[in-house]
Amino acid sequence: MPCYSVRKNGQHIGFICGDLGEHCRECGAVSDNLCDYPVGDGKTCDRAICNEHSRQVGVDLHYCPTHAKLWDKFKRAGGVKQVLENVVPFPD
Ligand SMILES: [Zn+2]
Ligand SMILES: [Zn+2]
Repeated sequence: MPCYSVRKNGQHIGFICGDLGEHCRECGAVSDNLCDYPVGDGKTCDRAICNEHSRQVGVDLHYCPTHAKLWDKFKRAGGVKQVLENVVPFPD
């Protein structure tokens, strides 16, 4: 049975064991989200991340820390439109 780190306010406070899905790739806690950052070919990053390590950038849209940083860079460079165009199209 897999065990997960339990964290509170950025501190590791213990472990929880059980079949709770993927671990957060950043801290080993139970993951709450998958990174939705587009990586091309209609795929997303899909990195498992806990609430603490995910950045919510939209409705049901979360990015891992690495991609949250990239997202900030894109935004500062005025590249939001370009990113969104990557997200929207799905082949029929
Ligand atoms: Zn985490
Ligand atoms: Zn990511």
